[in-house]
Amino acid sequence: MSTIEKKMYRMKAQTETITITMFPKVATTHEESENEAKKHLPFETKPFVVEEICSEEEWKEGQPNFCPRCGSRTSFDDNGFYECSDCEAQGHVSVEI
Ligand SMILES: [Zn+2]
Repeated sequence: MSTIEKKMYRMKAQTETITITMFPKVATTHEESENEAKKHLPFETKPFVVEEICSEEEWKEGQPNFCPRCGSRTSFDDNGFYECSDCEAQGHVSVEI
């Protein structure tokens, strides 16, 4: 039985002139998201990235899990307070859904 955890992934692709971002509807494995990106991106995209966003529960709750300053993964407590271990930013965000 597979124990691979399904997550929400954001997919981005670029040409010289445009950037396309695909947002997920459901949690998938990294490989599934990669296949989705290959299937749906409308051109031969050279670079494309599949980045993990969060779990499906966090996604539904609209809970951010990245540093607003540098974009690294970080977590927020129930009051919206965060402290980023990468850039040492800390602060408070309010999330409106
Ligand atoms: Zn940061």
